[in-house]
Amino acid sequence: MTTASIIDGKEASARLKDSIAKAVAELKARHGIVPGLATVLVGEDPASQVYVASKQKTAHALGMNSVQHNLPAATSEADLINLVRSLNSDPAINGILVQLPLPKHIDALKVITAIAVAKDVDGLHPENAGRLVTGGEALVSCTPMGCIMLAKDVRADLTGLHAVVVGRSNLVGKPVAHLLLNENCTVTIAHSRTKDLAAICRTADILVAAVGRKEMIRGDWIKPGATVIDVGINRVPTAEGKSKLYGDVAFAEAVSVAGAITPVPGGVGLMTVACLMVNTLKATCAQAGITDIAVPTRLPAKA
Ligand code: NDP
Repeated sequence: MTTASIIDGKEASARLKDSIAKAVAELKARHGIVPGLATVLVGEDPASQVYVASKQKTAHALGMNSVQHNLPAATSEADLINLVRSLNSDPAINGILVQLPLPKHIDALKVITAIAVAKDVDGLHPENAGRLVTGGEALVSCTPMGCIMLAKDVRADLTGLHAVVVGRSNLVGKPVAHLLLNENCTVTIAHSRTKDLAAICRTADILVAAVGRKEMIRGDWIKPGATVIDVGINRVPTAEGKSKLYGDVAFAEAVSVAGAITPVPGGVGLMTVACLMVNTLKATCAQAGITDIAVPTRLPAKA
């Protein structure tokens, strides 16, 4: 029985953040520019509050400016879009992140589409999604970017590997699949209508789980030695009134089969925030026409 190496998202994201902080300091020293990130939170969803706070804190820690807009849950779609438009035209703001999910009365796609493509640091604007598919210069959504960085940290060249992505959302599954295709993987995208999912998963050299179902992927679905990237975050209430996080993969089973695996928590989630900072830096440089700052495209080597 083998034991997988655990892909440590905390350590990996610290490496990435370190390289971003250095690039941000260089940008300031050489060009006098400090990246500015605006986060917009509508309502009081506790998980969203935690995510936004962590994004703000990370931006500050890396030397960026950040402003947070907290709007009441009853905010109208028109008012939210007006705020986005004012941020679009604010020269101190280089990146705009509207935290999802939005309240039901607001059309999230309309709001995302209102964000200037160049400031869409969440990479969810249809034009950025399209550029990812057609091979143009895109701001790539953060969680998928983090998944690829972690997979490439395990194995630098993914060429020719069979990647199975379980989940086809615009937020995770589809962009991950396209990024893997760009890495020359042979990619299978599975979803709720896929037949014999377990057998398909067993053929994966790289298995990305982005489903949102606690421990759906069992240990015997995994090819021995595979790299398993578990995106799922499933919150289960505990008897003490708190909540415990589970991934989409049955970690305790998978760890004895996989070659490398991300834990939940402590895996992909931590990379998401760091990749948002990559995008904010990238957007800032692009908006100013700056090409002499090294925006990280992969995890720096371990020291
Ligand atoms: P969605 O609900 O938008 O998509 C889930 C996908 O899983 C769909 O494509 C769905 O298929 C598929 N699916 C559902 N049930 C099954 C099944 N039984 N077998 C196979 N496929 C199935 O979720 P997201 O993509 O937004 O998120 C996925 C997970 O990742 C969630 O747990 C979410 O919390 C987590 N997440 C984590 C992030 C992080 O930073 N770590 C960031 C974003 C998300 P179909 O299309 O056919 O309905």
